Amino acid sequence: MAYTIKEELQEELQEIKDEGLYKEERVITTPQGAVIETTDGKEVINFCANNYLGLSSHPKVIEAAKETIDSHGYGLSSVRFICGTQDIHKELEQKLADFHEMDDGILYAACFDANGGIFEPFFGPEDAIISDKLNHASIIDGVRLTKAQRYVYDHSDMDDLEKQLQDAQDARRRVICTDGVFSMDGDMAKMDEICDLADEYDALVMTDECHATGFLGEKGRGVPEAKGVLDRVDIITSTLGKALGGASGGFIVSHQEIIDMLRQNSRPYLFSNTLAPSITGASIAVLDLLQETTELKDKLMDNTRYFRDEMKNAGFDIKEGSTPIVPIMLYDAKKSQKMAAELYDRGIYVIGFYYPVVPKGEARIRVQLSAVHEKEHIDKAVNAFTEVGKELDVI
Ligand SMILES: *Cc1c(COP(=O)(O)O)cnc(C)c1O
Repeated sequence: MAYTIKEELQEELQEIKDEGLYKEERVITTPQGAVIETTDGKEVINFCANNYLGLSSHPKVIEAAKETIDSHGYGLSSVRFICGTQDIHKELEQKLADFHEMDDGILYAACFDANGGIFEPFFGPEDAIISDKLNHASIIDGVRLTKAQRYVYDHSDMDDLEKQLQDAQDARRRVICTDGVFSMDGDMAKMDEICDLADEYDALVMTDECHATGFLGEKGRGVPEAKGVLDRVDIITSTLGKALGGASGGFIVSHQEIIDMLRQNSRPYLFSNTLAPSITGASIAVLDLLQETTELKDKLMDNTRYFRDEMKNAGFDIKEGSTPIVPIMLYDAKKSQKMAAELYDRGIYVIGFYYPVVPKGEARIRVQLSAVHEKEHIDKAVNAFTEVGKELDVI
């Protein structure tokens, strides 16, 4: 590496460290679960994974992954359209589509790739993409990869969305895109109102259901189901890397023509390797499991209600909502870091977030509930929060 670049990077890294923004990674030595161990020898109850349904280490999922390695091998060593499509990939795509009551589905290496590949085949300079201000980085990047006209509306502000739709009326095509659940606040998009506006102004609706698939809505089909508009949303992107087992992989379900066109022209699909057979087989088992019973989702929602109620009773300021993402508002960045560290010492693993991940002056600790949590785990967390909260004058 050229010497000057090396020095420049050292300086930049030091600046990040000086600002206290350097991201360190804690190293886990066990499978993902309610209780995990880390290299610093601690056993902690985990409240910061996207393991909403507890499927990351579920025996049935592990068994299905192992069986699929035996039946379909370890890797495909090919993109889908050359020689990378197996029967299980087609089966999973159809199962994902059926689950969401859509025509067809398509798999990607990650939802980041699904969002990177969903816009460019359909939206050019004569088209308009209208995006919520707080949308996930991968949607923002997906939009950047197009030459489409870009419109951004204030977060969940339907008046502003309507104004942007009016401004975009001259475009050939319009699409409104939104996260289903916003990961830092745990709030749901106003999907029913978005669909009404889409009808009025002739736009498609695309939603990213990464923090909802598998557990929100009556059958776990995400925010469109929770808001009663599953049949009015055009494009759903989501991940296999959160509630649905947490390995990796992404997908899109939509109308037949959209999926057909993605198989022809979506670059992250065309030029990237096939999803591993073990993940594909295990994901089929996950979908079967979700359709057999809503037990896991029901337990997750019970846990969520219980934790939200107990924390409110303890006097904490939490963002109202019903999703398993629960932001405990502290407002002060230093306090959020101090509190997370104190909780970790007491065996509760949570993360404090502050600017630039959330707006200035809105620092918080984000707690994520899971179906693997038992009441005793949650009670321990609430007690530790209460103890530390009193120490730090939060309550
Ligand atoms: C996690 C997440 C992604 C990325 O999903 P991967 O499958 O991990 O790439 C995309 N969008 C949203 C809203 C997410 O929360």
